[in-house]
Amino acid sequence: MIKDKREVARRGEAAAIPTAWEYAPAPESREIVHFEDRYGLCIGGQFLEPLSNERYTTIDPAREEPLAEIAQAGKADVDRAVKAAREAYAERWSQLRPSERAKYLFRIARILQERSREFAVVESLNGGKPIRESRDVDLPLAAAHFFYYAGWADKLEYAFPNRTPRPIGVAGQIIPWNFPLLMLAWKIAPALAAGNTVVLKPAETTPLSALLFCDVVRQAELPPGVVNIVTGDGRTGAELVSHPDVDKIAFTGSTEVGKAIQRTLAGSGKRLTLELGGKAANIIFDDAPLDQAVEGIINGIYFNQGHVCCAGSRLFVEESIYETVISKLKRRMKTLRVGDPLDKNTDVGAINSKQQLDKIGSLVQSGIDEGAEIYQPPCKLPERGYWFVPTVFTNVAQSYRIAQEEIFGPVLSVLTFRTPDEAIEKANNTPYGLSAGVWTEKGSRILAMAQKLRAGVVWANTYNRFDPASPFGGYKESGFGREGGRHGLEPYVALDGE
Ligand code: NAP
Ligand code: MG
Repeated sequence: MIKDKREVARRGEAAAIPTAWEYAPAPESREIVHFEDRYGLCIGGQFLEPLSNERYTTIDPAREEPLAEIAQAGKADVDRAVKAAREAYAERWSQLRPSERAKYLFRIARILQERSREFAVVESLNGGKPIRESRDVDLPLAAAHFFYYAGWADKLEYAFPNRTPRPIGVAGQIIPWNFPLLMLAWKIAPALAAGNTVVLKPAETTPLSALLFCDVVRQAELPPGVVNIVTGDGRTGAELVSHPDVDKIAFTGSTEVGKAIQRTLAGSGKRLTLELGGKAANIIFDDAPLDQAVEGIINGIYFNQGHVCCAGSRLFVEESIYETVISKLKRRMKTLRVGDPLDKNTDVGAINSKQQLDKIGSLVQSGIDEGAEIYQPPCKLPERGYWFVPTVFTNVAQSYRIAQEEIFGPVLSVLTFRTPDEAIEKANNTPYGLSAGVWTEKGSRILAMAQKLRAGVVWANTYNRFDPASPFGGYKESGFGREGGRHGLEPYVALDGE
């Protein structure tokens, strides 16, 4: 005993006892990625200069540095892409044996796995998301979607027994910036598996992983024109939507643009699926495993800086455990590491664009003005780039904008409830209906809640879990149609009687 005390004293003199654990920088190398100075449009298996002659610069939102010059496709460019897709559909892709289509999809999946580190770096550089997420979530899931739908390509008659499924033709696909490669995989994999060809428009701010995907398509030796990528802003998307020779539009993005697309397509006979916004309720009952639930809350709202359509942005806590949950939550928030997306220890990366940062800022200001109480952990932000400190609001009324509108940022609004019925009523009090979370020990309660929640996906004792075999999609203003699973094939096949 005495000896131990002496030893402690001796060591105390020799070296200061550390009081805080500092992380050493752990940057992922960007050497693995090579960007061209400028990119054309990927049409018919080649990169073509845009007929529009317009270009813009895509940047790294964490450093506000330019990465490459991107083509802004105009009407004539979209027309060329649709023609290439039509020709590939009629002459090549729809003629292939389904098992041959499957081979190509398996190849794409394997190449994505082989090149996953490179893609993860591109995704984090161009989008701002932490490398830990692009490496461990976006890339494995994107490959998994191709693997999954490759499996269906020659089994469509089992997916739709006695209904003679046939491809529908050329699909126009428009995706957002929050999961650029993953959304591409969600769109392209089922379309190709069912025998269609595609023209895809990535979001204006995150075109690079889609352009790199053209190289995967080349490597997999897909027939030219099966996958075409047209870059540009909303105008390019609008051209694709109104092109007369597109058979189906698949859109993921905001409710506002989704409604505009639906108006354009009304009466045209074109098929449409919409995956839109959300304002999900994450509901914590007093019998929930609280530490696990706090991890679920954190993952629900701070994953991908809250740029997640199914983010658990409204937290409902049973009144009896309110104080405990909030204090645990705040303590956990202090440990979140905000900063360089390429650092492997980063939990929260950069906001995708200046425009999105401004939107988050103005909604947070509205929360303060309306009387909610704001908490942000102490946090040193990098000097350049677009950043927002993880934020939680308490004292929130249901009528506040921060409880009603989608913020699409790292901002959580906390409300309370006393009974399961009250939780349901409040949770469903939104124009959206994409997802929800329930935390409780009771299986029967989980099932009862899931049945009453108007949401396409309900997670129980977990959050933000995805699997290519599981359908995903919304109710109400969150859209219609499902992606993932056998359901995800439906929008891309014509069945007997159609
Ligand atoms: P957005 O403005 O609706 O954009 C989505 C895509 O549509 C982008 O490629 C966009 O191009 C394009 N676009 C814009 N205007 C268009 C028009 N008039 N016609 C055709 N296309 C047009 O949404 P965002 O701001 O990129 O993404 C955030 C929103 O997407 C959030 O509301 C979020 O909830 C929703 N979202 C939903 C899901 C889901 O699965 N349900 C998934 C992710 C995101 P630009 O890039 O040039 O704007
Ligand atoms: Mg937009």
